Amino acid sequence: MIEMDEELRRKKYRLVNRLIREGYLRSSRCVKAFLKVPRERFIWPGYESMAYHDSPLPLGDTGQTISAPHMCAYLIECLNLVEGLKVLEIGTGSGYQAALLAECVAPSDRDPDKWGHVYTIEINEELVEFAKRNLERCGYSNRVTVIRGDGSLGWPPQSDEEIYDRILLTAAAPTIPKPLIKQLKKGGYLVGPLGKGYLQDLVRVNKDLDGVVREENLLKVAFVPLRGRWGWIK
Ligand code: SAH
Repeated sequence: MIEMDEELRRKKYRLVNRLIREGYLRSSRCVKAFLKVPRERFIWPGYESMAYHDSPLPLGDTGQTISAPHMCAYLIECLNLVEGLKVLEIGTGSGYQAALLAECVAPSDRDPDKWGHVYTIEINEELVEFAKRNLERCGYSNRVTVIRGDGSLGWPPQSDEEIYDRILLTAAAPTIPKPLIKQLKKGGYLVGPLGKGYLQDLVRVNKDLDGVVREENLLKVAFVPLRGRWGWIK
């Protein structure tokens, strides 16, 4: 067991060094988050030894995947996260990305009074339970709230209030769901993939202080399709 842990630790450091070298990890905040969160504890049973391979891994037979580490790193970097922010994630999956978000806005080694919070919504019941368990045993229940439902409607569903500083969509949508744009605060960022087929466009949306929304294309990505009211599959 000790040997296994040591081996994983080495693999983790090697992966983090590689992500820094390749430019996916750029800030000390995100490097720290990556080193802190144990990806092996968010992996579907049987795949743990592959936790620090830079590849997506299947989440049982749900047809969904935990994103590749370089993609998780890219996403937390391009959201410009700082301590204290309120973040909404659509597509909890394993809970791993939510834990990374939590380490960025509510770092384990900081005063909980200054912590932000992560709300994450998952539509697949089996994954809601899986993610809750993973987040709980890794000590994130106080910084991450897992909600079961259609995240394309935002949270609370269809609310018109500007609630979140950052929103991360981790499944590919036809267009940015309108409720999510409404729920983004002025000065906030939303990042997510748009499009159909194997490759989609990762876009970043900024709502400026006057409420004007601008979209920029970041790169081509491969995510699973978004379901629900604003998704590809209702
Ligand atoms: N962020 C995850 C991986 C996401 S995979 C991780 O770190 O492991 C995309 C997830 O989005 C899948 O689990 C899928 O079930 C979920 N999903 C798809 N459509 C959704 C919707 N409308 N609302 C909430 N979750 C959705």
